[in-house]
Amino acid sequence: MKYLSTRGNAPEADFAEALLRGLAPDGGLYLPKAWPQLDANWFRAAAGRPYAELTREVLDLYIAGSLGPDASQKAVQRLTHTFHHEAVTPLVQLEPNLWLLELFHGPTAAFKDLAMQMMAPLSDAALEKTDERLLLLTATSGDTGAAAVRAFAGAERVSLAVLHPEGRVSPVQRRQMTTTVADNVLNLAVRGDFDDCQRLVKALLSDETLRAKSRVSSVNSINWGRLVGQIPYYIAAATAVGSPDRLPRFVVPTGNFGDAFAGLAAKRMGLPMGVMTAAVNSNDALARAVNDGVYRRTRAVHTASVSMDVQAPSNFERLVFESFDRDAEANRSFFETFADSGEATLSDNLLAGVRNEVAAVSVDEEETAREIQHAWKAYGRVICPHTAVALAAARRLDRHEGPVIALSTAHAAKFPESVSGALGFPPEEPSQIRAIEDRPERLTVIDADVTAVRAAVAELQNY
Ligand SMILES: *Cc1c(COP(=O)(O)O)cnc(C)c1O
Repeated sequence: MKYLSTRGNAPEADFAEALLRGLAPDGGLYLPKAWPQLDANWFRAAAGRPYAELTREVLDLYIAGSLGPDASQKAVQRLTHTFHHEAVTPLVQLEPNLWLLELFHGPTAAFKDLAMQMMAPLSDAALEKTDERLLLLTATSGDTGAAAVRAFAGAERVSLAVLHPEGRVSPVQRRQMTTTVADNVLNLAVRGDFDDCQRLVKALLSDETLRAKSRVSSVNSINWGRLVGQIPYYIAAATAVGSPDRLPRFVVPTGNFGDAFAGLAAKRMGLPMGVMTAAVNSNDALARAVNDGVYRRTRAVHTASVSMDVQAPSNFERLVFESFDRDAEANRSFFETFADSGEATLSDNLLAGVRNEVAAVSVDEEETAREIQHAWKAYGRVICPHTAVALAAARRLDRHEGPVIALSTAHAAKFPESVSGALGFPPEEPSQIRAIEDRPERLTVIDADVTAVRAAVAELQNY
């Protein structure tokens, strides 16, 4: 299988190349040239299968021989070894036709572990093929960096630099990054905000001196390797509680639209499912695009569901490309207009295509807090603010039509301030968070200055 770019001006790549590049050379995002298909019998038999087994079959369709035969095996072994639940992604029933899909049983207690844990062994396998090394750079507001550090610590051919804004990630998230003892990981606490971190990463991703020494890439969800690892849980959940005549509908708490797009990929593979709902917080650029037909950039505001504080969701481009029936020309022109003017209007055709895939709703801060309270009172469950955004949106849907599955993307203990604010008591910590409480931390505080950061990162490259 080959991968193409949503901008249509890049050579086709195999899985290994798409994984190591992240962004395509023409600035587009990679997608499979044709969606692998699974038939109705396969989906019927998928219900209740061991998660690792199902995941391996899905991965192999996308890797399509571009890595050695044991690469996918090593990847799924990570799930069985590092997750704290036998089912990996258990489904919990809250009410008739209302389910919560728990994605937080991994080492950093957020759903990003699912893809990231597998991406590390897959990257090592891809680098081994060509005997290369890779420098990964990532800016994080918390969850991505933590999941990346835990996944890539000790990777053989990869070094990882994580930039977080000093003092602006939660103590739990910081410790998940800084308590690693691996020499291939560098934690930089930047004197600045998240945008500064992003700007620095962007500058260094194209830095020629770094690129002369190794491959340089990032681990955010523009990378197809992230999304592919999120497809299997949609299949596992949909086949467990839905069927072709009772189509399950997913409600996905959304920031960069990576997780939601993985669900749409599962649908493209043939998975029977109804229209998905993307639930956003007050950062509602996506909801305005889907509902009003105008995609407009505004400044992100801070909310309780911080990992969704995104105003230009990177994977919106994949949705637009698919909704344009893969017209790369039209897609390129749409995103060039957006980049130039901060605004792009969706044509009637495009809008109809987008609405065919996804509905979008915004849940504000007050409703998020009320939902955390409701989940505690009605179900005895302490949920995180991201999960609350999804659950609030899920409870607005008519559940007579069939099962509704809200994605629970993080454990409440990662966001103790907002959860205690809503409930009046702090969430209980799971063992993977308690375990790092007293470990020593390692981090380098650094100015938001490209020269200083480049020097620190170059040293990591030599380690
Ligand atoms: C990253 C994240 C999200 C948003 O996922 P996207 O793929 O960016 O849409 C939602 N919830 C949690 C807890 C996250 O860490």
